[in-house]
Amino acid sequence: MNFDYRFEAQNLDQSDPLARFRSEFVITEPDLIYLDGNSLGRLSLRSARRIQEVVDKEWGEGLVRSWSAGWWEAPARVGNKIGKLIGASEGEVLVTDSTSVDLFKLLMAALSYQQGRTVLISDDMNFPSDLYILQGCTKLMGDPYTLHLVPSTDGISMDLDRLENAIDSRTAVVSLSHVAFKSGYLYDIQRVIEMAHKAGALVVWDLCHSVGAVPVDLDGWGVDLAVGCTYKYLNGGPGSPAFLYVRKDLQDRLVSPIWGWFGQKTPFDFEVDYTPANGIQRFLGGSPPILSMMALEAALDLPLEAGMTAIRNKSEAMTAFAVRLLDQILTPLGFSLGSPASPERRGSHISICHPDAYPINRALIGEMKVIPDFRAPDNLRLGFAPLYTTFEEIWQGFDRIRKVVEEQRYLSYGSERAVVT
Ligand SMILES: *Cc1c(COP(=O)(O)O)cnc(C)c1O
Repeated sequence: MNFDYRFEAQNLDQSDPLARFRSEFVITEPDLIYLDGNSLGRLSLRSARRIQEVVDKEWGEGLVRSWSAGWWEAPARVGNKIGKLIGASEGEVLVTDSTSVDLFKLLMAALSYQQGRTVLISDDMNFPSDLYILQGCTKLMGDPYTLHLVPSTDGISMDLDRLENAIDSRTAVVSLSHVAFKSGYLYDIQRVIEMAHKAGALVVWDLCHSVGAVPVDLDGWGVDLAVGCTYKYLNGGPGSPAFLYVRKDLQDRLVSPIWGWFGQKTPFDFEVDYTPANGIQRFLGGSPPILSMMALEAALDLPLEAGMTAIRNKSEAMTAFAVRLLDQILTPLGFSLGSPASPERRGSHISICHPDAYPINRALIGEMKVIPDFRAPDNLRLGFAPLYTTFEEIWQGFDRIRKVVEEQRYLSYGSERAVVT
């Protein structure tokens, strides 16, 4: 029966309209099942070539002259490219800093703007860094600011009525992840925006696990503010800079809490006093990481060429296939689904739960050439990157997980946690 699934996977790969994109990536171990593109996307050949070129030509030869030959405008130019993937207009997206720092900037700007409103709202499924930033902002704003975390139904999904009840005239900002990092739950952005705006609250969306995997239409949905990282489904590389989105009409009403020279109106006048630049530029701080930025810029052509509709279609097909494999192959071995049951309500990864998830994860990485990741307390997280993950890889991955558990190979791995899981 296992082989029927393998046959089905091969057929799905053969009719996959995105199949050609896999050859755009550096794949040195064909036998490695990489299911962690939602943590660090693969290296694209285009990025590798571009980095070499930037090092040799723009840095090596051009030196400081390169700032005037494309580097200075890079945060806005690369931002516009990301904008095309998330339904933003020109001049609404910047690539700068990390997601955590961008979230801090937008939250502080929004809180100062929303005078008289003192409640921040998020949920308990949100990514810890987002929650820490929210806690830090609440503390910085001081008394009487408070953070309210709306509890999820079951650690997997949110009951939107519960969220709606939490939002009222005291709410300054709602800050949520479009796709939950653990369960993969996908928020209905339009519905949340509607309920927040009705109460006069602004919403900041974190798109880390949706950009490049799930269609997003920021302008069309009336989104206020958003942030997201670029090293997951956008394949920008380790630590590549994040992006932020500020809707056009909000840009000149919000002020970044970090007054850096890149966000000054006339940075090369070297004035003593800060005047924020007009438009999105005011959300820049200091010098951007040019090497990472250029690697990202080259990688962005891949999702743009593939198109978000095709990417989403394949992503839904992959998570649906994985859930069927889970039901058939792994449920009898004690696994359960830690993600929403319906493909429309999840992003491009699923969590599968098992009491021994941690040693199983270690055995998979240690001796089975499968790379998922572990998220406490019992989640094995499997990410499917539509540009390079194949259906056969998914089948292989599940078959190797089955082997690790059936043959009890995980028993020789302890539960001592590594630094990065
Ligand atoms: C990956 C991720 C981040 C990463 O934040 P950085 O500051 O860029 O390290 C933030 N939020 C969410 C929801 C994520 O999934």
